[in-house]
Amino acid sequence: MKIAIIGAGFGGMAAAYDLCNAGHDVVIFESADSVGGLASGFKEPHWDWSVEKFYHHWFQSDKSMLGLIHELGWDDKVLFPRPLTVMYHNGKFYPFDSILKALLFPGLGFGLNKIRFGFVGLFLRLTNNWKVLEKYTAHEWMQKYAGREVYQKMWEPLLIGKFGPYYKQVNMAWMWARIKARTTRLGTFEGGFQKFADMFAGKLREQGVEIRLGASVKSIKRGPEKGLVIEAEKKETFDKVLVTTSPSLMAKLCSDLPENYLKGLLELKSMGAVVMVLSLTRQLSEQGYYWFNLPKEAGYPFLALVEHTNFVPPEHFGGDHIVYAGDYLEAGHEYFSASDEQLLERFAPAFKKFNPAFERDWVKKVWVFKTNYAQPVPLVNHSKNIPALQTPIEGLYFASMSQVYPWDRGTNFAVEIGRRAARMMLADAAQ
Ligand SMILES: Cc1cc2nc3c(=O)[nH]c(=O)nc-3n(C[C@H](O)[C@H](O)[C@H](O)COP(=O)(O)OP(=O)(O)OC[C@H]3O[C@@H](n4cnc5c(N)ncnc54)[C@H](O)[C@@H]3O)c2cc1C
Repeated sequence: MKIAIIGAGFGGMAAAYDLCNAGHDVVIFESADSVGGLASGFKEPHWDWSVEKFYHHWFQSDKSMLGLIHELGWDDKVLFPRPLTVMYHNGKFYPFDSILKALLFPGLGFGLNKIRFGFVGLFLRLTNNWKVLEKYTAHEWMQKYAGREVYQKMWEPLLIGKFGPYYKQVNMAWMWARIKARTTRLGTFEGGFQKFADMFAGKLREQGVEIRLGASVKSIKRGPEKGLVIEAEKKETFDKVLVTTSPSLMAKLCSDLPENYLKGLLELKSMGAVVMVLSLTRQLSEQGYYWFNLPKEAGYPFLALVEHTNFVPPEHFGGDHIVYAGDYLEAGHEYFSASDEQLLERFAPAFKKFNPAFERDWVKKVWVFKTNYAQPVPLVNHSKNIPALQTPIEGLYFASMSQVYPWDRGTNFAVEIGRRAARMMLADAAQ
């Protein structure tokens, strides 16, 4: 079969790997000039490692990703340090990355609240029944079982930060999945995620996959007789096509899709993200904290501050200290149209709260990355809203972050859904 894949993110590349191994001719169309999609990175000439445009790490529970890396024979390139995560309370930061640390966190006092927090956490770690949980919003379920105060202190800031105006509508299965699958050790690839993406692309090319960079697909239509016609620089016919872009782009690319499938795509909600990356001459968090969770109500101009070089040593970046300041935002938020300088004006004063000695001349360079599609929003009974991987058009498949569920999206699940789509394409072809 001649197969086209739209997108060289981890989903598209994982699908290409299996389809090519099964003996098919695979072409990947990628509009960017590099592979890796949302997990791609960049590098200064004096850095040995790349830095992800949007902060990235793996969890020890990321079986699909770690399994793929094992198959590729690169286990020795995966590192799992244990960086420090902290939580804000009354102007101070407290470690919050183990059960013991959570129990010592002063934000909940030391009475009934802490017991309720502990029991609800334990219940969610032990249960597998997410189908029941998706019937409720996290907003109502958490208040009922963990109590109003625990919810307001611990969970509401997380929901507001990630989902903005939708925070009261997000279902409880999303919260369950987050608590269930996360580990305190966090992983990365030697050299950065971009290094891994490039090595994976190299392996795919070696096996015969054609990866066309800078190749933006404009439309996908049914062929006059059979097959699907892809229009990029020219028109080409393929037997099967897998699309890995956002649902709204999928709808735009394939206007031939029946109305109810298109409607399903367009009704899915998601949040965008704006992330500033800074290289600094000095360490910002002298306590060595990696991840700062910041509740919106505390007045920071961003949701998370992440000091990458408290996770991966600065020696890999020529001694530069790398810091991310990022937020999940609705498309149209003022940060999307602000210039890099305007954003730095907004963000820089807040850095003093992490280190009072911080001065603007610590900043060597600033990069800002923006995406309208960063985080799907799972509403109540979301499993019923997920578009099928096999679309109603014969030979056309769709596998995106928005179909990852109940788990929270991530490169691990991009690999899982990409490989699932490939299995489906192979099974359909065998019939
Ligand atoms: C702020 C942020 C933080 C994150 N943190 C983590 C984390 O810590 N750990 C983790 O594992 N994951 C994290 N993720 C999620 C992770 O990046 C995604 O789940 C994953 O990269 C999705 O892969 P994908 O292949 O499904 O899609 P994408 O990576 O979006 O790939 C789709 C590809 O399609 C291409 N494309 C789009 N339109 C066209 C077109 N018309 N023609 C050709 N090509 C096209 C795009 O350029 C892109 O390369 C984070 C994401 C964000 C935004």
